[in-house]
Amino acid sequence: MFVSNSKKQFQLVKDGFINLLFPEICLACETELSAREHHICYTCWESIHLTYFEGFKEPSSLDKLFWGRVNLEATYALFYFEKGKASQKLLHALKYQFKGNIGVYLGNFAATKLVNHPVFKEVQALIPVPLHSKKAFIRGYNQSEKIAQGIASVWKIPVIQQEVLKTKHTESQTRKDQFQRWDNVSSIFKVKGDLSNYQHVAIVDDVITTGSTLESMAKELKESNPSLLISIISLALAKSK
Ligand SMILES: [Zn+2]
Repeated sequence: MFVSNSKKQFQLVKDGFINLLFPEICLACETELSAREHHICYTCWESIHLTYFEGFKEPSSLDKLFWGRVNLEATYALFYFEKGKASQKLLHALKYQFKGNIGVYLGNFAATKLVNHPVFKEVQALIPVPLHSKKAFIRGYNQSEKIAQGIASVWKIPVIQQEVLKTKHTESQTRKDQFQRWDNVSSIFKVKGDLSNYQHVAIVDDVITTGSTLESMAKELKESNPSLLISIISLALAKSK
């Protein structure tokens, strides 16, 4: 008892000391965080527009984005992506500044919003959108995998990583029109593993813009597993203009 208590106290003192030397700063505005804030300050968090899709009875704009393209059981995004705002800065930190933990943290948050969702609670495994190994090597991790880990820790389901492989190193999507984008992502995924143990999986992504990456991946999964049910979860959704 005494040992574990003093161990705990030592840990607290150590954490406090590290925090004093390297105070945690908000990933969006870079102000110092209080002890109760994690990764992002309350002010920045308040400025992020959540979608509230978890409570929607009617189809959401994200559901409609995939209509006529691929059959999905349910779709979800936690917040809207807004240029120059806190939402963009968080995703930027996750992708380019080695802040993988923000992905886990927000994945966790998204998962708690969907715990009682009638469709998402049937999901048996999570498949993060894979990164080409070259990109994963440069970044050190796959940001979608971090998000999936955060979701998985709440839902207590596995994250499947090896079954889907990205085969082509795609160029940046930003300077292409919609048709070129589709052309760019079609058939870049290969399913190599056996998914026959699962009836329903969810693909996990960081941000959805045109939806063509997810469309391509869902189609590839369905081609090799025709009876597989697929849902998608993303942290962010870019609002269509
Ligand atoms: Zn902030």
